[in-house]
Amino acid sequence: MRGAPTRRGRRQTITPAGLILVVFGFLALTLIVLMPAKAGARYLDGAGTATLKNSPVEPVEPEASPPSASSDTGDTGGASSSATNSGGGLGIPGFPVISRILCLRQCVSSSQPTPGAIIAVRGDHLERVTRVIFRSKSGWIRAKWRTRNRAAVRVTVPKRAVRGFLAVVDSSGNRTRSPRELRILPVSAIPVEVFPVRGPITFGSGGSRFGAGRPGHTHQGQDVSAACGTKLVSVRRARVLYNQWDDGGGNYVVLHNVGTSTNFVYMHMIRRSPLKVGQLVPAGGAVGRVGTTGSSSGCHLHFEYWIGPWQTGGHPIDPLPYLRSLLK
Ligand SMILES: [Zn+2]
Repeated sequence: MRGAPTRRGRRQTITPAGLILVVFGFLALTLIVLMPAKAGARYLDGAGTATLKNSPVEPVEPEASPPSASSDTGDTGGASSSATNSGGGLGIPGFPVISRILCLRQCVSSSQPTPGAIIAVRGDHLERVTRVIFRSKSGWIRAKWRTRNRAAVRVTVPKRAVRGFLAVVDSSGNRTRSPRELRILPVSAIPVEVFPVRGPITFGSGGSRFGAGRPGHTHQGQDVSAACGTKLVSVRRARVLYNQWDDGGGNYVVLHNVGTSTNFVYMHMIRRSPLKVGQLVPAGGAVGRVGTTGSSSGCHLHFEYWIGPWQTGGHPIDPLPYLRSLLK
């Protein structure tokens, strides 16, 4: 009984040594054969990207160099993975590219979404993106795309997402990180009231004021001078009551402020507003552009503030104190 195991053991100590040699030889051969293939595979969708699939996308400091300057980011932990990404992405047709992120709904601004907001990730080669990856306090959150095409992927910002870089992953596992951090702000940061003209303005004097004399009537609003084409936005969350033409007001809209009995009127716009009657507009949402259509001389916004229904029972008040308060 004792002899047999020893003999067998001796035989085994010899066999593994041989095995190791064989394995080493095989490994060496495998490496020689596979190395060029692996290098080549970095330019294909499949094999070369398998290693990227599960590698975390590390956030880097905002001050860090852009991903393309990979050699300068050695001081951050994410440098190696970002270098691999950009290195692998250079010159590859079909590799997803992110140029910018635009907030579409439930936004603080066009670049600042809130949890639950809808954003558009703009770029190129995004038609095969399957997931958008957000940062959260406990790691990464994967969100499925809502709509996608080559130039953009729309996605809902997950409730637990926090400020950080986001990444997209396509069906081949190709992963690309946004060039900038996405700032996700609380829903409470969404503006309630916004000044209606998005550019330099002057209020003018006498004749531009509420109550100033006009042929046959008095001025029912405040004129706000601004360059032709300056963007006009909704002061509050509002519903579109009218969007039409008048020989006096030119292209004008009347917006009803949701949850109030007040209405705001925008006149003399350069062209017809893109808004549809009945549509809801968020505070800060586009209304049109400054013009001088209708009975007007010089580009300006004629702004009216009505308490109660516009022209049908309500009355206008002087909007200037309110407009001034919005500039503070
Ligand atoms: Zn006016």
